[in-house]
Amino acid sequence: MTGFMPADLVTKHAGPVLPGAAIGIFGGGQLGRMMGIAARSMGYKVHVLDPDPACPAGYIADVVIEAGWNDRWAAANLARDCAAVTLEIEQVSTVSLDEAARWAPVRPGAAMMAVIQDRIEQKNWLAKHGFPVGAYRVARSAEQLLAAAGELAGPAIAKSATGGYDGRGQSKLGFDGAAVDAAAVRQAWEEVGSTACVVELALDLEKEISVMVARAPNGEIKVYPPAENFHEDQILSWSIIPAGVPAALVTEAQGIAREIADTFALEGLLAVELFLTKDGKLLVNELAPRPHNSYHGSERACVTSQFEQAVRAACDLPLGDVSLVQPTAIANLLGDVWLRDGSVHEPAFDKALAIDGVRLTLYEKLKPRHGRKMGHLSAVASTAAEARDRVLQAKSLL
Ligand code: ADP
Ligand code: MG
Repeated sequence: MTGFMPADLVTKHAGPVLPGAAIGIFGGGQLGRMMGIAARSMGYKVHVLDPDPACPAGYIADVVIEAGWNDRWAAANLARDCAAVTLEIEQVSTVSLDEAARWAPVRPGAAMMAVIQDRIEQKNWLAKHGFPVGAYRVARSAEQLLAAAGELAGPAIAKSATGGYDGRGQSKLGFDGAAVDAAAVRQAWEEVGSTACVVELALDLEKEISVMVARAPNGEIKVYPPAENFHEDQILSWSIIPAGVPAALVTEAQGIAREIADTFALEGLLAVELFLTKDGKLLVNELAPRPHNSYHGSERACVTSQFEQAVRAACDLPLGDVSLVQPTAIANLLGDVWLRDGSVHEPAFDKALAIDGVRLTLYEKLKPRHGRKMGHLSAVASTAAEARDRVLQAKSLL
């Protein structure tokens, strides 16, 4: 390495990071790609670190460093050439984040990431700070999982502490009257990867919503209008902004998101996923410290998209206005759309794009797989319900 002291470099980069500089992103998936596109639009250079050199952000980045989430030397390489570093994935090791922070500001930082990247730590943190969460237990063995399911006394979902997403690393117990016996628990334990997990009581949901909050290093906060989210097989299917919930719930949900951001002293974005139960309770499901699938619509729904906001927060720029511009819906396009009838076929995008207000975003993933997020459709309309109808109609034409 050079004779520079890393601390000097960090000092040199204090204050706003202005266009022309390079931004580093841990993760080159679709979120990194769309964040990178926003950064490029604003005149930044984009450096990405990802284990897969053919990642979606690779097509739009100036530099791609092929490396794993635990590779601290690669993390140093990323940060050394960048004026600010951010991330699009939770799994980056705190060792890598700490190493990167020796060379450039890393937003969000390792302390918050350590809490969020482990479901057990995250749930305990939320409960400890008085945020509303559903009934849960922690299990570190099949025996503890059996005891946890018994204590929760109802259908439950076990979720691995680390590494899960889109319902992966999760297992359902006692659904549809199924017995929760030693055999069922052994199978569930294997499904979560035979590893420490959170066991949650399965809640009777009225709706799912999410709230995106951005916090700048100087403490400025912007809270987006809530999105309403519909999942199928534990994967997001469609989202609308604004959510169809009463004003009092909007205020409550935004208040929770703001307080979580403040308590963490967040620098960056945080998506707060919330459950609205049938009996009217708002409970925090989980946190995502990055752009979020449910806010892809913010590119059209809000004055400032989540992706530009992520860049602003990472660069210590003033945060952008998050007011609603127009009701917007998005529908995810999973690999399944390509894989109907047992073979790969190109969806009829021409038909979908003929619907008024519809736009297409693809992530340039080369191989469609079942459950893999390949892109999304968006639609605007005079109401969120109409936007959703349009986007779902467009998707049905593919
Ligand atoms: P992921 O990291 O895969 O997004 P989540 O914990 O958000 O994991 O679970 C995915 C989805 O599964 C949720 O959005 C929700 O639809 C459903 N789900 C998860 N936990 C519960 C629960 N305790 N009660 C009811 N539904 C749940
Ligand atoms: Mg989730």
